[in-house]
Amino acid sequence: SKYTKEQILKEAKENGVEFIRLQFTDLFGIMKNVAITFSQLEKALDNDCMFDGSSIDGFVRIDESDMYLHPDFDTWAIFPWRKHQNAQTARLICSVYKADNVTPFEGDPRNVLQKVIDQAAEMGYGFNVGPECEFFLFNTDENGAPTLETNDKAGYFDLNPIDTGSNCRRDICLALEEMGYTIEASHHEVAKGQHEIDFQFGDVMTTADRVMTFKHVVKTYATKHGLHATFMAKPIEGINGSGMHTNMSLYDLKTGKNVFDDPDGELGLSDTAYSFIAGIMAHIQGIAVVSNPTVNSYKRLVPGYEAPSYLVWSTSNRSCLVRIPASRGKGTRVELRCPDPTCNPYLEMALCLAAGLDGIKKGLKPAPAYDENVFALSDEELHTKGIQCLPGSLAEAIAAAEADPFIKETLGNHVYSNYISGKKAEWDSYKTSVSQWEINHYMINY
Ligand code: GLN
Ligand code: MG
Ligand code: MG
Ligand code: MG
Repeated sequence: SKYTKEQILKEAKENGVEFIRLQFTDLFGIMKNVAITFSQLEKALDNDCMFDGSSIDGFVRIDESDMYLHPDFDTWAIFPWRKHQNAQTARLICSVYKADNVTPFEGDPRNVLQKVIDQAAEMGYGFNVGPECEFFLFNTDENGAPTLETNDKAGYFDLNPIDTGSNCRRDICLALEEMGYTIEASHHEVAKGQHEIDFQFGDVMTTADRVMTFKHVVKTYATKHGLHATFMAKPIEGINGSGMHTNMSLYDLKTGKNVFDDPDGELGLSDTAYSFIAGIMAHIQGIAVVSNPTVNSYKRLVPGYEAPSYLVWSTSNRSCLVRIPASRGKGTRVELRCPDPTCNPYLEMALCLAAGLDGIKKGLKPAPAYDENVFALSDEELHTKGIQCLPGSLAEAIAAAEADPFIKETLGNHVYSNYISGKKAEWDSYKTSVSQWEINHYMINY
């Protein structure tokens, strides 16, 4: 670990940290936290901080609700936005342990990911991930509530003065860098009011933690600028939605070498890389319930908005599900384009890694690359070419997850059953709602 217990205590004291947030994530990707004061920090660092998990969505039953939080020392960070104030606040991201304080709680998404990381390690692999998180900035009204008016009318890579969200984006980038991120790029995205900030890839647990922190930081600074940030997949009909492209590569734990890279292989990719892609393709329909977890997620996955809907891979085409970016060597990677930033990153990355490993274990081979525009194909052509699609709705995604035993195996019974029943309830609630679209189409005509 980067820090020892003593170093954290010292840094907290020297910086006047009064509050420490012990953070963890529920099944549906919502960050939770228990705040403690400095007086309790040493106890927390000794893994002796208990909380009641019974009211956390998808966590535990009332009769087994006492849990322990084990802080990951690497995640120690002081919130930049509280600096220079009297009472500073820091955070530690924690894994959740059961009442005996030694058994990892199987309902904690971090523990689910750790299990798959261990499986990869047994095969000799480490897993690097680099996400590209997109989001929208909306204006707020006089009560501070979000409106449907985007903060600007700019487009792809536009800059000031049209891109008025750029001041907010700049503050976000600076805060993230203070928290240890390396920001590789930040830019206005295609849609009005839409932005993307890319941070450097890293090992999968660090990256999943960073996605959670990223969303927290973006929302915090948007509020400071009188804006509302949303990561929902498709806030506005008719323009691009927000994705979380997930760039992935495996490396050899002994040599550190990227094992997807093979200068002699087809397109410079190794057989391992091809099997990884094939594993993703084999399980993505079931994974979608996690990578694209909301009713709204499926309104993004339609033709015409740079988001995928068909199960094809390519080196160039941006309508495909899996793209191979041009960089080779250390940067050789596979980009999965369907996930959106409403997903729980721990579960999403756990499933992607497990699917890739499954492809490697079984020696799967993907169908040939498809470099033309899939959206131009008729249903008949898709059928003859054997091209399948992503689920078209949350209901289809739930069904696909239930049809693929791999999903339950990877998530474990606890997470799987609580997650799926939560998603079924979400779908049922949506199914019975009456939307503006229905009013517009049926009210007058019938
Ligand atoms: N916003 C697009 C999506 O929904 C991606 C656009 C891009 O990054 N070029 O995935
Ligand atoms: Mg990008
Ligand atoms: Mg983008
Ligand atoms: Mg991308």
